[in-house]
Amino acid sequence: MKRTALIGHLTPAHAGQTVTLQGWVNRRRDLGGLIFLELRDRSGVVQVQVEPDSAAFAEADRLRAEFVAEIEGVYQQRPESQRKGGAADFEVIATRVKVLNTAKTPPFELEKGGDVAEDIRLKYRYLDLRRADMQRNLFLRSKAVTAVTEFLDAEGFIQVETPMLTKSTPEGARDFLVPSRLNPGEFYALPQSPQLFKQLLMIAGFDRYYQLARCFRDEDLRADRQPDFTQLDMELSFVEQDDVLELQERLMAHVFRRALGVELTLPFPRLSYQEAMDRYGSDKPDLRFGSAFEDVTDLFQGGDFKAFADAQTVKVIAAPELTRKQIDELERVAKQNGARGLAWLKRDGDAFTGGISKFVAAQTAELLARTGVPEGGTLLFAAGEWKKAVSALGAVRLALRDLFDLAAGGPQFHVSWVVDFPQLEFDEDSQTWTYMHHPFTAPHPDDLKLFGTPQQGEIRAQAYDLVLNGFEVGGGSIRIHDPEVQTQMFAAIGFTEEQAREKFGFFMDALAHGTPPHGGIAWGFDRLIMVMSGAQSIREVIAFPKNNRGADLMALAPSPVDTAQLGDLGLKLDEAAPEA
Ligand code: ASP
Repeated sequence: MKRTALIGHLTPAHAGQTVTLQGWVNRRRDLGGLIFLELRDRSGVVQVQVEPDSAAFAEADRLRAEFVAEIEGVYQQRPESQRKGGAADFEVIATRVKVLNTAKTPPFELEKGGDVAEDIRLKYRYLDLRRADMQRNLFLRSKAVTAVTEFLDAEGFIQVETPMLTKSTPEGARDFLVPSRLNPGEFYALPQSPQLFKQLLMIAGFDRYYQLARCFRDEDLRADRQPDFTQLDMELSFVEQDDVLELQERLMAHVFRRALGVELTLPFPRLSYQEAMDRYGSDKPDLRFGSAFEDVTDLFQGGDFKAFADAQTVKVIAAPELTRKQIDELERVAKQNGARGLAWLKRDGDAFTGGISKFVAAQTAELLARTGVPEGGTLLFAAGEWKKAVSALGAVRLALRDLFDLAAGGPQFHVSWVVDFPQLEFDEDSQTWTYMHHPFTAPHPDDLKLFGTPQQGEIRAQAYDLVLNGFEVGGGSIRIHDPEVQTQMFAAIGFTEEQAREKFGFFMDALAHGTPPHGGIAWGFDRLIMVMSGAQSIREVIAFPKNNRGADLMALAPSPVDTAQLGDLGLKLDEAAPEA
């Protein structure tokens, strides 16, 4: 077969030439005895005209939507009256048509793809992937991979593949388990990340590693989560936090430049975790717009307004003029996110009306000065325990963004760092301390002395998150390289020495064999591409994703297996087990 060009590569210079194209019939229309076809390949679409008396007509007449065809014809400019500028001004006058394959009538109109039920799209993913949007997303993804490889190879990184069948890696989710036939009753875990292996590669002296690593986490699914997903995983030896961040910034800029032609501004702003939570109520703040909170705890402390007087924290956000209905809706958002309510005030000249206005006479001047709320605007307050209050107001801030399209006024892409996360977090449910990033993250050296004291919640981690438009697209840390500190860390999260040995004995041994100072990061690659492409879900940038019940609707996985196969694995289903 002699394809002379991809459709998208045809240029005005081809005018008058005979070309041979291969692709799918996007659409067919019959008009005035002529057949008009749209032929599509991965690079574009072109109109093909088949005249009734041409040798191509009989074969062209067999073509239907999604048939595969080879078309030979003369590439030429359309009649002047039909020109609109661009590639669409050209068409092919067919001289020969060959049906390369027939196709069943597609179960959905490809051009309506975005509006078709997602389950149908996922069931016929191979058709869905033919659509221009999906082709664009996957090409963007591939370009980003090329850019990553190009950059990291030039920076001296080595690619190493780490195992899929392995032992549990603690990243805070449930493991997917794989039974071992050769060792009945024993299980592998699929990696939640290559964390321990990449640290072992540093101990092994590779200095700089990366991998596009498939990771597995058994958690409830959302638009930006999949049970198996891709990380761009990296680790570097002999570095401090600033070295990692600086290299990451250059890498991110390179990826945006190569894949999208977008120039990012370096360096990325850095916020501490405390500041991000205090000002935006999120550890992944969307900084394309402002609307930071003001702290007004001091204005109400010990005062008459009981709801605020004893609160650990009172935060306020200034919003545009809101209707009662909008305030009710925002209050619902605040409550869903842990607040008891959402107090409000409307500015009317130099005073406030509505909501809690009768309680704030003494604070009016100060509230106006601190918030700068414009005439007619609304102040929204959350009060209570610090984390609950800021988180609830953070959710309100995002709801305001969506309501008033606040991000539209900012840059298309805003990348920032959140740093100085707490090392440990107290889990109210289990009443135990747990790690915030993972247990291999190094604490800030100045805070080491707090391990094992009642203040261990104040230990800062040398951990950092990369945030793009309000999405966490990467996270990493400087690692513990001193076995002593690693032991202290395990003790702080309540691991006995035996438990630590049982889970991570091999790793503890390795740490004691000459571990260089090291650190790294992993990018949530699917999520990054989702934001870069403007898609609303990571399923739009993954070729064959699962739906939100974790099912592959095309291959029909997961699926039952027969008893014999279970028997080989030494397994038996519990008949009483509830159906999912
Ligand atoms: N393994 C970490 C994660 O998956 C990333 C890192 O610390 O490098 O979040």
